[in-house]
Amino acid sequence: GNKNINAKLVLLGDVGAGKSSLVLRFVKGQFVEFQESTIGAAFFSQTLAVNDATVKFEIWDTAGQERYHSLAPMYYRGAAAAIIVYDITNQASFERAKKWVQELQAQGNPGMVMALAGNKVDLLDARKVAAEEAQTYAQENGLFFKETSAKTASNVNEIFYEIAKRLPRV
Ligand code: GDP
Ligand code: MG
Repeated sequence: GNKNINAKLVLLGDVGAGKSSLVLRFVKGQFVEFQESTIGAAFFSQTLAVNDATVKFEIWDTAGQERYHSLAPMYYRGAAAAIIVYDITNQASFERAKKWVQELQAQGNPGMVMALAGNKVDLLDARKVAAEEAQTYAQENGLFFKETSAKTASNVNEIFYEIAKRLPRV
């Protein structure tokens, strides 16, 4: 039969990587060039139908600033899934993403579905992080990896769909 699944999902990653833009694209199908910085965190929900289930994502879009770091556990605690976002044109954001992965591995839900999103893939000319490097890192750390663009919508629905497919069917 068809199952209804509620899944708390958190987005983590450096300021400016595109977390809010990915959520806005997924939830509203929109993109804005001058997305305002998130203060604290923002909540969204969106439902997605996969073959055998209807998944209602309860999405926490976190700020990413270091000064809000102590709040992060409130958002990832009890989360079924996380998307860790970096900007492919910014090496420091990739290093920051790895720190988030470490923190989730140490403090997060053991069964959490984790996705690594290399965002802004529309800015190929400015690429600083090789896809192969991120793919290898993801594989070694049990995440799945996609390069995304909130601007062009490339792989945005796909990353949420892939998470929905991987969530445990209780
Ligand atoms: P956040 O701090 O991680 O939430 O990042 P935002 O979603 O606020 O995005 C930061 C900036 O990057 C904004 O000016 C966005 O318009 C821009 N941005 C976000 N995603 C993309 C993308 O896929 N491609 C391009 N070219 N710009 C993006
Ligand atoms: Mg934001």
